[in-house]
Order: sequence, then C-alpha cells, then structure tokens
Amino acid sequence: MNYALVTGGSRGLGASIAKRLTSPELAVIINYRSNEEAAIRVAEEIRANGGIADLLPFDVSSEKSVDAALEKWEDAHPNDQITVLVNNAGIREDNLMIFMQSEQWHKVINTTLDGFFYVTRRVLKGMLTKKFGRIINIASLSGLKGLPGQANYSAAKAALIGATKALAQEVAARKVTVNAIAPGFIKSDMTKDLDESTLKKQIPLGRFGEPEEVAALVSFLASKDSSYITGETISINGGLY
Ligand code: NAP
Repeated sequence: MNYALVTGGSRGLGASIAKRLTSPELAVIINYRSNEEAAIRVAEEIRANGGIADLLPFDVSSEKSVDAALEKWEDAHPNDQITVLVNNAGIREDNLMIFMQSEQWHKVINTTLDGFFYVTRRVLKGMLTKKFGRIINIASLSGLKGLPGQANYSAAKAALIGATKALAQEVAARKVTVNAIAPGFIKSDMTKDLDESTLKKQIPLGRFGEPEEVAALVSFLASKDSSYITGETISINGGLY
C-alpha cells in the first residue's frame, strides 16, 4: 500500500490534508506532537469513510524522535511505502525582534526547518528507490514577503522555500517532485487569536481561507497530474501579497 505522511495532521490544515489525501490507493499516516485526542478524531473520520489511517506521534524537531518513530513504522510495514510527504507541522511564536527571546527564535526555526530536514531525509530514500515521490512543504506568505513580529517564522518559511528549490533539483531525475505552498490567512487554531474582521479588509477575496482549500491544492500536487511541476512555491492567499 502507498502511504502519505502528513506531519501535524491532528489539527488545522494538516487534518484537512490527511482527510483529503486518503483514497482507495493511498493510506495516510497522521503525525502529531501531543494532541492525541484530536489525532484520533481525524483517524476515526477517515476510517469511517473507508480509508486507512495510522497514528504516528513524534516531535518533528527531534532527530531521535523522528528516526525512532519512522523506523518502528517501517518495521511494521515491510510491504508498504511512503510515496507522499506533507511537511506541515509548524508553530508561531510571534514577537518584535527587539523583544524576541532566543527560545522563541529557536523553537520556530527548529520545528519548521529541522523538522523538514529530519523527516524528509528519512523518507526520501524509499522514494528514490521506488523512483516516485511527492514532497509538499507548507511554507507561508510570511516566507515570501516577511511579516513584522514574525522574523523567526518568516526566516524559517523562507528557508523552507530555498530548501524546496534545492532538493527539487537533486531528486528530479528519480521522478520525485518537491514543491512548497505559501498560504495567507487560513482559519485554524494558529490564526484563531487574530482579528479576522480587520485583517480581511486587506484581502482582495475578503475572507480568510478554509483548510479544505489548502488541502485541495495539496491533493493536486500529490497526484500524478502535477508530474511536471517541481521546485515551485504556489501561493494560496485570496490575492493578498
Ligand atoms: P495548527 O492548527 O496550530 O496545527 C499545528 C499542527 O502541527 C498540529 O497538528 C500540531 O500537533 C503539529 N505540530 C506542532 N509542532 C509539532 C512538532 N514539533 N512535531 C510534530 N507536530 C507538531 O496550525 P495550522 O494553522 O494548521 O498550520 C499548519 C501549517 O501551515 C504550519 O506549518 C503553518 O506554519 C502553516 N501555515 C498556516 C497558516 C494559517 O493561516 N493557518 C498560514 C500559512 C502557513 P499537536 O496537535 O499535537 O499539537
């Protein structure tokens, strides 16, 4: 069976992506860090609709945790392979640079960037051997234009876009594509403390996006239909730049 691994699949964008990617041809691995209850709810919904969903908790920013969890999964699934990887796990720790604590800087960089590196390196080998793979990195509008109060987050997401372009060129010969998605404001726990009624006035489409709208784009990039797109960053932001 082919599997899609969705990091941070317990809530928000990741939960919608996991549900959308599941099909008779593709099972899903839902990764999360600590919110087991939410992850179980996503898996149950997928199973109720006839899909296959495994739960795989690990901290993407910990090399040991990533390697131990994926090794265990691979041992239990000798005939299965991960053909789609969605690097979605991410956090915000906003602060103006002048007030930013070292911990806030490192936590955000480590989750987005180290997480991308540890998980992708681990999963890549199977894709290169199978000569097929889809890697989709969830970046952000912040990584393209930079947002005040988010020097840490903007730096992490911009670096993720750079890594996407580099890796795409490394693995293209093996028919593994690597793309990034840069969402604007999408409704989720991450944005629930933002003032949507004020912010939406800056957005040409006049609203925050839905996680399902991001999931639809991920689903296209994960499909065979996207086979000639690689190294690209696709914005999904209602026209906000
Ligand atoms: P969210 O609702 O806060 O969910 C975050 C998810 O990431 C949760 O499943 C969480 O797991 C998981 N996670 C966090 N740290 C982790 C770690 N160290 N290891 C494993 N899993 C971890 O966030 P979201 O809005 O869905 O955001 C998803 C992605 O989209 C992030 O990369 C974010 O930067 C990006 N993004 C979001 C927006 C937006 O407007 N929402 C815009 C642009 C980009 P637990 O449930 O266990 O905590």
